[in-house]
Amino acid sequence: MTQKIKAGVVGWPIAHSRSPLIHGAWLETFGIEGSYEKLAIEPGTFQARIRKLVAEGYVGVNVTIPHKEAALAIADERDAASLAIGAANTLVFKDGKIWATNTDAFGFTEYLKSKGRDWAGKRALVIGAGGAARAVLFGLRELGLSHVDLANRTVDKARVLATHFATDTFTITPLALSDIAGFLGKADLVVNTTSLGMVSQPPLEISLEGLKPGALVYDLVYVPLETEFLRKAKALGHETLDGLGMLLHQARPGFEAWFGARPQVTEDLRQRIIDDLKEH
Ligand code: NAP
Repeated sequence: MTQKIKAGVVGWPIAHSRSPLIHGAWLETFGIEGSYEKLAIEPGTFQARIRKLVAEGYVGVNVTIPHKEAALAIADERDAASLAIGAANTLVFKDGKIWATNTDAFGFTEYLKSKGRDWAGKRALVIGAGGAARAVLFGLRELGLSHVDLANRTVDKARVLATHFATDTFTITPLALSDIAGFLGKADLVVNTTSLGMVSQPPLEISLEGLKPGALVYDLVYVPLETEFLRKAKALGHETLDGLGMLLHQARPGFEAWFGARPQVTEDLRQRIIDDLKEH
């Protein structure tokens, strides 16, 4: 009898995670004898619990708040994305060793690529300088954009990220949220990486008047799916992308590494998650 392949998602709290729904749908699609569970891991117990999962024969886990930095620290090997971002959201267990990656940048860029534009040499305005912004900056650098204007409430945090991610061919200007208006006309892409606009948070109150015609507007928030920010962008005739696309795409590399099949993000899967978000 072949053994069931076991993976899961670890975090604290973990009840809200949509990852089991995504991976469960793919397991069903491929008819793979596998499982993907929610595993609640209390802060302070991460190391021991992960070692136990390795010993129990799990093939790996997704990692969410508050363990993403601990996940990077526990790994025997780390890829370029996780090192640059400073956090891991996917662990693969093989031959008793732990390999870490961060698939948020992949998810972000894959969904962006679905719009079929060429981003090489283009300019972006990124709002926010937290963990998600780090993944976005890594992704934009990979796509070959030439410049990012990086706005954050705490400008010092934007300065730290600018120093960390800038290269000779990828420059970053840190700025205050209040200075955004002067940069809208130059942006080919605007990305909200703050938690503003998310359910139970205040909206992201930034006027998009004066945004470069044809600029694409991307919001990482996915509850609600259409934020006030995206509504404003649409009303001004801009193409938009929501955070759900990124969430779905970021799950692909982990599934492939654990279960050995390359999953697709389909309209049907997207609808299943939208329905679930509506119910809860
Ligand atoms: P984080 O590290 O806590 O960073 C939060 C960011 O939001 C910081 O830039 C912070 O500014 C800003 N912010 C928070 N409250 C603010 C306020 N009242 N006014 C102005 N700025 C404010 O969080 P994160 O991990 O980056 O996540 C950010 C968002 O991205 C969340 O909504 C998360 O759900 C979403 N996300 C989505 C995906 C996806 O797959 N779609 C993946 C990752 C994250 P300061 O630096 O000044 O505090």
